[in-house]
Amino acid sequence: MYNYPQKLQKLINEISKLPGIGPKMAERVSIHILKKDVEYIDNFKEILEEIKTLGFCTICFNVSEGPVCDICADDGRDKSIICVVESSEDVITIERTGKFRGYYHILQGLVNPLNNVLPENLRIAELIKRIGKDPVKELILALNHTVEGDATSMFISAMLHDDDNNVITTRLAKGLPMGSDIRYADEITLGQAILERKQV
Ligand SMILES: [Zn+2]
Repeated sequence: MYNYPQKLQKLINEISKLPGIGPKMAERVSIHILKKDVEYIDNFKEILEEIKTLGFCTICFNVSEGPVCDICADDGRDKSIICVVESSEDVITIERTGKFRGYYHILQGLVNPLNNVLPENLRIAELIKRIGKDPVKELILALNHTVEGDATSMFISAMLHDDDNNVITTRLAKGLPMGSDIRYADEITLGQAILERKQV
């Protein structure tokens, strides 16, 4: 049976490991890269090399060039509110709405026992520690209205109720399409969901 040359097959295999890219798309992307000139490939290689120097903020776990991200380093934001999100993509989405001026905490995932993601695999312990230290009054759980998002929200709320603190927890209003990702919501709908958040 005919197959691709091994070098190309290796590229296809790597690309198909990326989220949301199936085998057919991986073949298309790989052949597209193959058709590009040497300069493009060198540039691509350099960008991948540079990304190795990026890491995560030691406070909120957002992607960051240094130990503290630009948002945590900004003293002008509202220290009484932390917005809890699944990933750094959500930070960008929420920032674009212009409706939030507090700080963030990135969980780096959602509770999903079927995929072996348990609360201890997320940045929840670090979040609870931050609440004990910062003048935080409200935690916005800006997590998707999905089974995983709901399970994660319930877990965090329960932990906060057990803890002796005066922090209230809120969730985004359900104007967002059920079961959908907040990162795909339009800015106006998401901005409105932030303003109309409900206490849980
Ligand atoms: Zn940060």
